[in-house]
Amino acid sequence: MEIRTIGILGAGTMGTGIAQVMAQAEIRVHLVDVSDDILARSTKRLRASLQGAVERGKLTPEQAQEAEGLVGWSSRYECLAQADWVIEAVSEDADLKRTVLRRLGETLPGHVPVATNTSTFRIAELGALYGRPERFLGMHFFNPPPAMKLVEVIPSEHTAPEVTQAAVDLCERVGKTPVVVPDIAGFVVNRAFAALVSAAIDVWAQGTEPAAIDQCLELGLGHKMGPLATADLVGLDVMLTILRSLHAQTGHPRFEPHPRFEELVACGKLGRKSGEGFYRYDE
Ligand code: NAD
Repeated sequence: MEIRTIGILGAGTMGTGIAQVMAQAEIRVHLVDVSDDILARSTKRLRASLQGAVERGKLTPEQAQEAEGLVGWSSRYECLAQADWVIEAVSEDADLKRTVLRRLGETLPGHVPVATNTSTFRIAELGALYGRPERFLGMHFFNPPPAMKLVEVIPSEHTAPEVTQAAVDLCERVGKTPVVVPDIAGFVVNRAFAALVSAAIDVWAQGTEPAAIDQCLELGLGHKMGPLATADLVGLDVMLTILRSLHAQTGHPRFEPHPRFEELVACGKLGRKSGEGFYRYDE
């Protein structure tokens, strides 16, 4: 399967980051989102990220310019029909995923595989919405995509083996480390991470300082960053969505969001992005 052009639907945090990863590996990218404002924001974000890579000595200015030149932005789904491979990275909303996957099924030529970057939905269910489940799988990049090595590659029971192999090859070609994981709720990373965060939240809700909990888990488990500081980085609203989804899908009480955690999110404490979560952040 020759991949020369990638289409990415959703030019937010992940879509723009994945576009950078692909363009740095000299793959042409069509990035599609709903409005000119969002596309302009994505263009700025990509440029700033490439500039950062130049400042850190990861790219030469020429390489950064070349990468930017390989990315095109559009609000027309039809652009995606020119791609050899499409990555879906729209917001994590069930109705939205349903709508866009059906539309991709109608827009793309029958042979084009679609990889979803979903964090919480089952690949088999999304593949049925695309309509060609044998040409559908998960490619779960981590945030920020240019820096994070891991990609969970998630075939469903219907995914054709050559599509899974093509996803693994694509990850390796762009310098990532693919690991093939099962199509279970939360895959591997979010399932294990959510359980750890949930346990840390239980201790916090009983009155222990976040820093003490994180310090124990950093020193005791050899992790670089404790679960509560990591949850602040991910975004507590995102974390709550992940916990709710895992709880709904598995029924396991370990994923049931603690009421005090729900309160924290309800009063707008979303972690780093809002200036406060388990910790307070200065400008
Ligand atoms: P985001 O909100 O930053 O970006 C989502 C984009 O989808 C927005 O730009 C939005 O305008 C666009 N969109 C909405 N409706 C659309 C439509 N009809 N057509 C085209 N685009 C549309 O979200 P994100 O953080 O980039 O997450 C995208 C996906 O990646 C989600 O499935 C999420 O679960 C997954 N993910 C996120 C992270 C993370 O840390 N942010 C990590 C791994 C996976």
